Amino acid sequence: MDLYEYQAKEIFAAHGVPVLPGSVVGEAEQARRAAEDIGGQVVVKAQVKTGGRGKAGGVKLAADPAEAVEKARAILGLDIKGHVTRRVLVTEASEIAEEYYFSFLLDRSNRTFLAMASAEGGVEIEQLAVERPEALARVPVNPLTGVDLDTAREIVAKANFPEAVREKAAEVVVKLWETFLAEDATLVEVNPLVRDPQDEIVALDGKVTLDGNADFRHPQHADLVDAEAEDPLEAKAKAKDLNYVKLDGEVGIIGNGAGLVMSTLDVVAYAGERHGGVKPANFLDIGGGASAEVMAAGLDVILGDPDVRSVFVNVFGGITACDAVANGIVEALRILGDDAAKPLVVRLDGNNVEEGRRILAEAAHPLVTLVDTMDSAADKAAELASAGA
Ligand code: GDP
Ligand code: MN
Repeated sequence: MDLYEYQAKEIFAAHGVPVLPGSVVGEAEQARRAAEDIGGQVVVKAQVKTGGRGKAGGVKLAADPAEAVEKARAILGLDIKGHVTRRVLVTEASEIAEEYYFSFLLDRSNRTFLAMASAEGGVEIEQLAVERPEALARVPVNPLTGVDLDTAREIVAKANFPEAVREKAAEVVVKLWETFLAEDATLVEVNPLVRDPQDEIVALDGKVTLDGNADFRHPQHADLVDAEAEDPLEAKAKAKDLNYVKLDGEVGIIGNGAGLVMSTLDVVAYAGERHGGVKPANFLDIGGGASAEVMAAGLDVILGDPDVRSVFVNVFGGITACDAVANGIVEALRILGDDAAKPLVVRLDGNNVEEGRRILAEAAHPLVTLVDTMDSAADKAAELASAGA
């Protein structure tokens, strides 16, 4: 789960990372009180889960409370890369002497954690990594020993932070590591990490991604979920305990096992190129069970997606054999009744495949097309999606 900037900063503060005070408001007029409480110059910042808010006009300085209201009015409702701003953070303005970049992240390809730091922060880090890779220090972090003050000093030295602030910056880095570790984050990023004219180090922005697999250790993380902003289909799938991710194509996908579903996405994307460029509409892994209830729940979510024009059910029978899956599909379609109104392409293989195919053939549901191989089924599903356009 990605957090909003204001949530990230609340977590930072709880772990001793220096941040400036602020409060979040959903209506422009409320920015007045928020600015009065802070006093002096404030910054009004769009709370959206995407970067580049500054460039998009989502970060504005305000000299006094009246101007804070004006800026909040300009930012609320602003669409930043497809994210509509519903709330703004009104926070104390910082005087900036220098802007640095700092992050800890999970480095999947190297199976470890990574610290990234640069004395040239503020800019988009992807751009810096491409244009001036030598300015971005990358330091692997040993997960067993973590980051103590000495390690932190090495990191900020490698990143060429100025001598005058290295010690202070190293102390902040240790606290950022403590945040990363204690909260089970997969990303903690501060851009910019600011040096103010008094040589204090402050996190002016914050991006935190929490590892959902560790949610059981953090019951309080549930409070960070923004139900309003969640994709309604993903929320529905979550409520039914389904492994679902909404994508932006037209071919609904159901499969059993994450690996099979991933390769199904690939073959559908490939087949789609021959059929007007249709693409997978989602990832949905119904797991090993594939019972009628789970199949019905999965179909219900996928068929409820207005972008979906055909569905590809790709199941490899294992412990749950194909006949059980076939019965599941027939029963799911009965449960859904008229709610199932889009063509389904079903490919079954594996344990008890003959019996499974026989059951589906006998049911002869008008929406179901049985196809024997994965490639042909993907092609058929893409063709139906393209025809349904
Ligand atoms: P982002 O564009 O979404 O990454 O949003 P940031 O929070 O990083 O803000 C973008 C830029 O606005 C920063 O790099 C700063 O240059 C500027 N900015 C943000 N907060 C302040 C502040 O308190 N004072 C000043 N002077 N500039 C700020
Ligand atoms: Mn930023």
